Amino acid sequence: MRIAIIGGGAAGMMCAATINENSPETEVFLLEKNDSLGKKVIISGGGRCNVTTGLEDIKAVLAKYPRGSKFLNSAMHIFPPQAVQDWFVGHGVPLKCEADNRVFPVSNNGHDIVAVFENIFRKNKTKVLFKHAVRKIEKKDQYFIIHSQDQADLKVDKVILTLGGQAYRQTGSTGDGYHLAENFGHHTSQLAPSLSSLVLAESWPAQVAGLSFAKATIKTNINKKHETTGPFIFTHWGLSGPAVFAFSALIAFENFSEAKPLKIFLDITPDLSLDKVILQLKNYASANPKKLFKHALQLFVPLSFTKILLEQLKINPDKKNNEMSKVELRQAAEFLKNLPLAVTARRAGDEFVTAGGIILSEVDPSTMQSKLCPNLYFAGEILDIDGFTGGFNLQVAWATGRLAGLKSST
Ligand SMILES: Cc1cc2nc3c(=O)[nH]c(=O)nc-3n(C[C@H](O)[C@H](O)[C@H](O)COP(=O)(O)OP(=O)(O)OC[C@H]3O[C@@H](n4cnc5c(N)ncnc54)[C@H](O)[C@@H]3O)c2cc1C
Repeated sequence: MRIAIIGGGAAGMMCAATINENSPETEVFLLEKNDSLGKKVIISGGGRCNVTTGLEDIKAVLAKYPRGSKFLNSAMHIFPPQAVQDWFVGHGVPLKCEADNRVFPVSNNGHDIVAVFENIFRKNKTKVLFKHAVRKIEKKDQYFIIHSQDQADLKVDKVILTLGGQAYRQTGSTGDGYHLAENFGHHTSQLAPSLSSLVLAESWPAQVAGLSFAKATIKTNINKKHETTGPFIFTHWGLSGPAVFAFSALIAFENFSEAKPLKIFLDITPDLSLDKVILQLKNYASANPKKLFKHALQLFVPLSFTKILLEQLKINPDKKNNEMSKVELRQAAEFLKNLPLAVTARRAGDEFVTAGGIILSEVDPSTMQSKLCPNLYFAGEILDIDGFTGGFNLQVAWATGRLAGLKSST
């Protein structure tokens, strides 16, 4: 049997390695438009490659996918994060799990992850065909004919589409997979960038660019209530950091612009109720009547940020605690709990993944095989699945790649 896997990213590499393990006699062709494998894997996690998550409870893992969690159930049970870790360790890459459950190679080097596959392919029958930009796939009788730019056609029995989404296009993922699949009657859902920083209408964040908070809640109250809690950082253009990336996933399909910004609110003190914040400000004020009010704000935010807060609240920075009215104290507390901001855009080109993809109802979740075209399979980001940051997107590529590899070669 001959199987062609189109796209040598995380999903494609795992597919090919799995077929080699499961069915060594199968002839595997891994077609990649670049001249090397796993470009995105190498840059992932800031070059350290957050390879998967340390979470073990599959329900908890599946809750990290705003889209596709139900579909992922089988793949995630067959190749859960722990099995992914065991697989890489078994192939000679020691891993470490950090306090926030992100799992990395001990070496902090994504090259080591790709090298596992390169070694496997060197030792067995996988034919890795670089500079094969696949343009069209046809089905003739029971065979697939693959046409790549400037390369000879290839005839195979089965095809697995692992061409990724269209985020970070410079890595080779340019959305070609959607068009190839459409040729077989498949449909692509609406596509949108996800896991990106957000651009704000306000200019003041630039004054505190680099200031980070370990825990804050970002929320909005549009059609659906969206809310995430975690670390974030102010940037020259607005907001970034894990909580912002997760929030961007939740609002992936919301429309907003400079003309019609999305109103969001930051809760800088998510572990304290409004009443507790008011009480702490009052207690500080009565214990330190002659001190400046900005020092009371320092209970919750660094000094550099108190300047911004006072400007926004229109409170004189030289105002002392004993000069603050009850109303002003309450306003300050409310501001800390509900700091209003206006999002005008997602930061162009810096999204990590594409939300949307091949419609899941057209793919069998227990095999990854197309329901429309026998012997055509899918794996990875090309599907309408996306997760939060924390190793969840590579986990999709490994788990669905594993399942497609197993089922296509059995
Ligand atoms: C900057 C960045 C950092 C990230 N960090 C993390 C992280 O730390 N942890 C995590 O879990 N996720 C991370 N992600 C997301 C994760 O890397 C992706 O979700 C995952 O790599 C997708 O794997 P894939 O194999 O489905 O697709 P891709 O990795 O996109 O691979 C698709 C492959 O198909 C090839 N291809 C495309 N078109 C054609 C064609 N016509 N012919 C032949 N080949 C083609 C491409 O060149 C590419 O090699 C990050 C993403 C980015 C952009």
